[in-house]
Amino acid sequence: MNHFEYKNGVMHVEQVPMGTIAQAVGTPVYVYSTATLERHVRVFQEALAPLPDPLVAFAVKANPNAAVLATLARLGLGADVVSAGELRRAVAAGIEPGKIVFSGVGKTADEMRLALDLGIFQFNLESEQEAEMLSEIALSMNKVAPVAYRINPDVDAGTHEKISTGKSENKFGIPYERAIASYDRAAQLAGLDVQGVAIHIGSQLTDLTPLALAFEKLGVLIEDLRDEGHDIRTADLGGGLGVPYDSSLPVPPLPAIYGEMVKRIVQDWNVRMVFEPGRVIVGNAGALLTEVIRVKQGATQPFVIVDAAMNDLLRPSLYDAWHDIRAIKPRGKQTSATVVGPVCESGDTFAKNREMDVVQAGDLLAFMTAGAYGATMANTYNSRALTPEVLVSGDKWAVVRQRPPIETLIEGDIIPDWVR
Ligand SMILES: *Cc1c(COP(=O)(O)O)cnc(C)c1O
Repeated sequence: MNHFEYKNGVMHVEQVPMGTIAQAVGTPVYVYSTATLERHVRVFQEALAPLPDPLVAFAVKANPNAAVLATLARLGLGADVVSAGELRRAVAAGIEPGKIVFSGVGKTADEMRLALDLGIFQFNLESEQEAEMLSEIALSMNKVAPVAYRINPDVDAGTHEKISTGKSENKFGIPYERAIASYDRAAQLAGLDVQGVAIHIGSQLTDLTPLALAFEKLGVLIEDLRDEGHDIRTADLGGGLGVPYDSSLPVPPLPAIYGEMVKRIVQDWNVRMVFEPGRVIVGNAGALLTEVIRVKQGATQPFVIVDAAMNDLLRPSLYDAWHDIRAIKPRGKQTSATVVGPVCESGDTFAKNREMDVVQAGDLLAFMTAGAYGATMANTYNSRALTPEVLVSGDKWAVVRQRPPIETLIEGDIIPDWVR
């Protein structure tokens, strides 16, 4: 459920007409709904309610905007970060270090030092080599690093291959078969407190079966590790729950159903549970608002050319992702069209032969469900400015990231004297 709804034939986000934002800020612009964020957090927390004190660590990479993070911090969420930049942004937005998990296969020594300094909740390690490096750094700083290993359960998540992370050929985690040996090794390393296990098998999962399979394997491993004398106190089940993108398809499992599955599997684990949801919290809380530049009649179909492009919303070109496309003020007629941006790549296509509202130059459109992996993947390809962001709450709204002037691109480059 989200708060982008038509009132008197015009799409509003909560109580603000989308057109008001387009007029004031210009397009393209990302628009987020606070009420939707709050609702999604509440639904997720309620789904896990019977678990004792679960840590819900929002996957910052899905949407690192400070105003979004501050909203989630206010609701009690922690953060799952994958870089020093994300760690610093999370802390700057008010997320307590004691609620932060650090994931990722390539943590550097500097990143480890920063996280140890701040005192984060847990490092999710992805190799024995990483454990050795963290041990040395923690020792040199006179600290003890709380760690878990991310286990690669060799489970096919059944999602797009570019967002599938739990197969043995993926770069993520330690192999399930090597887990005991890796834990034995980590337990011998000074400066580490081996406290938990972690898993994350992929994103936009629309079937709970692979998740359940992976969690069950993790449960078996916890028992085996305890038999070997490891004091496992935390279990991090990652993120990955899918959201509805295409309103004509069946909706993915709701958080409540996910929660029931989790509770059934983990009831005897006796650990503090950790979750790392990203998309399910922010996906439907955002839309990318764009203006139609012109409609061009191609040889076989009409092209709707909009002022947003693949640099603003990369998902369709990167993952063949679907975003519902809706007119802000529908004209009451439908057509079939291909929606493209101005970037000089054929991959700059948002939708092919899409049944959609009839539009004309100057009309506003929204790409729905763009709150996750949207603005954060934006770039300046074709020397286009980074996309601004707006947060709405009730009848209030604010620019929470400005559109930088093109001068920042020009001034950022340096021409050495010997070129001039
Ligand atoms: C990306 C990621 C997540 C969040 O995934 P969603 O599909 O957005 O829920 C959680 N944990 C890790 C380690 C990730 O890389």
